[in-house]
Amino acid sequence: MLLIVIDEKRIFAEIESKNPASVSLNGPDGILPQVQDTAMKITKKFGIPAYVLADTTWGTCDLNSNGAKVLGAELQFNIGHTINMDYFGDSVILIDAFDDVGFDVVAKKCAEILKDKKVSLVTDSQHLHQVDKVQGILTTAGIDVMIGKGKGQLNDGQVFGCEFYPATQLKDEVDAYVFLGQSNFHASGIALSTNKPTYVLDPYFNEVREITEFAQKLKRKATLAIYKAAEAKSFGVIVGLKEGQLSKVFALKFKKELEKEGKSVQLFALTDITNERLQNLKGIDAFIQVACPRISTDNQFDKPVLSTPQANALLKILRKESIGEYFEIPHWL
Ligand code: SF4
Repeated sequence: MLLIVIDEKRIFAEIESKNPASVSLNGPDGILPQVQDTAMKITKKFGIPAYVLADTTWGTCDLNSNGAKVLGAELQFNIGHTINMDYFGDSVILIDAFDDVGFDVVAKKCAEILKDKKVSLVTDSQHLHQVDKVQGILTTAGIDVMIGKGKGQLNDGQVFGCEFYPATQLKDEVDAYVFLGQSNFHASGIALSTNKPTYVLDPYFNEVREITEFAQKLKRKATLAIYKAAEAKSFGVIVGLKEGQLSKVFALKFKKELEKEGKSVQLFALTDITNERLQNLKGIDAFIQVACPRISTDNQFDKPVLSTPQANALLKILRKESIGEYFEIPHWL
C-alpha cells in the first residue's frame, strides 16, 4: 500500500479563498484512492460537489481540464505531478503529493552495491522530498553523489517519462544513475537517454535492481519497429488530442518529409492511441504518433507505431544516413 500524502491544506485554502460552486480533482492512477478520500473530505467540509475525474492523467501534458470544463467545475485540482509551477491558467491548480515511504534501509544496501562509484540521484514527483536525505546517506557511506539541475517544468533531480535534463546533463561526469522510487518506466527512460547503468532504489521491496537490460530490450523493440516502418508504403501520422501533447507542427513536418521520400500519408487525430483504435483504420502499413513517446516504446501494437525520436531515425534510414543514438537526447519530443 502506497503511503501517499496529498497537500490537502493547500486545496482547502484555495477553496476557502475562491469559494467555487463545485470542483474536480484528478491524479495519476496509482494515487486515485487517496484522491477519492480528498474529494469526500471537500464535500463534507464545504458542502459542494467534488468530482473525481477518473480518466488518466499521465502528466501535466494530460491535465484533462476539458473534463473539468464540461462538468462546469470552477476549480480543478490536478494532484501529484509536483512540477515547479502552482497554476495552469485561472482554474487549474497543481497540488503536490508525496510518498512518505522511507529509503533508509534500501539506501544503505545501495551504498554497498555502488561502493566507490560516482552516481547521480534522480526521481519522479512523489519522492522529490527524499533526495537530500538519500544523498546524505550515500555520501556518508563514501559515494560521490551529484544532483542535476532542473529545467522547464522539472525540479532539480526530477525526470518525466520523456524529459530527462537533470540526468543527461551529468552523463559525462557519473558512472551510474540511481532512481528513487518503484518506477521502472522512469528509470528505463533515464537508462535510454544517457546510455549509462541505471539502478532503481525500491523502498517497498527494499531492493536495488538494475534496469539497464530492461531498457535495452525496449530499445531493441523500438529499433525493430523503425526498420519495419522503413518498408512501409503508406503511413498514418497521428496527432494526440490531449491538451499538452498536441503537436500539429511535428505531424505536418513528418507528413511532408515522408511524402518527399515517395510515401503516402494520411493524418489522424486520437485522444487515446491504442492498438484497438488503430485496428479500425484501413490501408495503413505503419504509424507515427507525435503525442506521448512512451505510447510507442512501452506498448504492443500490431503495426509499427513510431514516436517522434523513432520517426526522426526512420527519416535517416530512408535517406540512407546512419540511424544514430536516437534516444540519447534530453527530451523525446
Ligand atoms: S512521458 Fe508522456 S505522459 Fe509523461 S510527460 Fe512525457 S508526454 Fe506526458
